[in-house]
Amino acid sequence: MIMNVTIHDIWKARKRTSQIVKKTPFLYSSVLSDVTGASVYLKLENFHETGAFKLRGAANKILSLTVDEQKRGVTTFSTGNHGLAVAYVAKQLGIRAVICISNRVPKAKVERIRRLGAEIEVFGHGQDDAEKRCYQLQEEQGLTVIKPFDDPYVIAGQGTIGLELLEDLPDLDMVVAGLSGGGLISGLGLALKSTHPGIQVIGVSMEHGAVMYESLKAGKPVILDEQETLADSLLGGIGLDNQYTFRMVQQYMDQAILVSEEEIAEGMAYIFENHRMAVEGAAAVGVAALLRKKIGKPNGNIAVVISGCNVDISAHLNAVQKYISH
Ligand SMILES: *Cc1c(COP(=O)(O)O)cnc(C)c1O
Repeated sequence: MIMNVTIHDIWKARKRTSQIVKKTPFLYSSVLSDVTGASVYLKLENFHETGAFKLRGAANKILSLTVDEQKRGVTTFSTGNHGLAVAYVAKQLGIRAVICISNRVPKAKVERIRRLGAEIEVFGHGQDDAEKRCYQLQEEQGLTVIKPFDDPYVIAGQGTIGLELLEDLPDLDMVVAGLSGGGLISGLGLALKSTHPGIQVIGVSMEHGAVMYESLKAGKPVILDEQETLADSLLGGIGLDNQYTFRMVQQYMDQAILVSEEEIAEGMAYIFENHRMAVEGAAAVGVAALLRKKIGKPNGNIAVVISGCNVDISAHLNAVQKYISH
């Protein structure tokens, strides 16, 4: 069933998730403002308890399920920030969560999810197999599959970032955020443009495997091979049968930008050096785009979404070191 997501759904998401999702800090960056000539602010989604904004969408979706559905439990096939969020919300609500993974997923990632109390189901050799297993669990045991982005409740949940931005800065002119499956940009775009249609919405992806970017160019969802990238949270397809986010990103995003691996490392190093925060590659793409002056006419009040901080300390060190030795 296709429904239209509206600003009303985002307000409802805000109310529904208020017990689990805390408002995140909003920080003026004098250094980035100096570099760009605009007033640049950082929206610190790395401060969620799960380390990324995906908590918002997962909380809104799971809290929207009926009591009966909640009793049967939830499942998902992400081992990244979405999987962590689903496991965390399930634990808060005392319900069952099964995270399906392939046998290729690194042990450290699996342990973190297990520590949150979720069950791990190992199946097959790739992400597609893990996804298939989720839908089997739905059939066999009545678990609800919690999708990472292409779901109206997930999109509305991510949109609550937009409400917080407008509270802190009603005169916002532009928002810059990472773009993968498009749940984040869809929710943000809907929240901001429903309020002030003039706010510019900029999506940033990595050069290596920008599926939404290529899909928009092709006019329909496409498939790309996955490549190594520092912005690993931006990896993954958008689904050939995409129902919501492809259309919403088309409607709400004003500019799509790509950044190189070197630029992502520069963004991570810059945030570390100037703001003393270790953030993951996917969260540094907006700062990278600003630093390299890739955003058309950055002026007025700009909010950059720092989307998460789930990165191995060694991977972070490596990225920063590579950048410094350049
Ligand atoms: C998921 C994610 C994104 C991208 O969000 P989409 O809704 O998939 O476009 C950006 N940054 C981080 C840290 C993420 O986990």
